[in-house]
Amino acid sequence: MRFGNSGAGDPSVGTSGDTEPAECPYCGSTETEREHPKGPGLCRSMHYCTACEEPFEKFG
Ligand SMILES: [Zn+2]
Repeated sequence: MRFGNSGAGDPSVGTSGDTEPAECPYCGSTETEREHPKGPGLCRSMHYCTACEEPFEKFG
């Protein structure tokens, strides 16, 4: 009557696909970095293309 293993499994492990790379509207590259929005009430995200070094915004 002894439980050596006390449930080491986590069923809620999984990637939620929240880190999709944004595609650059200028060169179509996905070598982009996401920048954190600095203003309040901003419903769009800022991205920066490392390929052509252009910042762009993406909605949604
Ligand atoms: Zn680009």
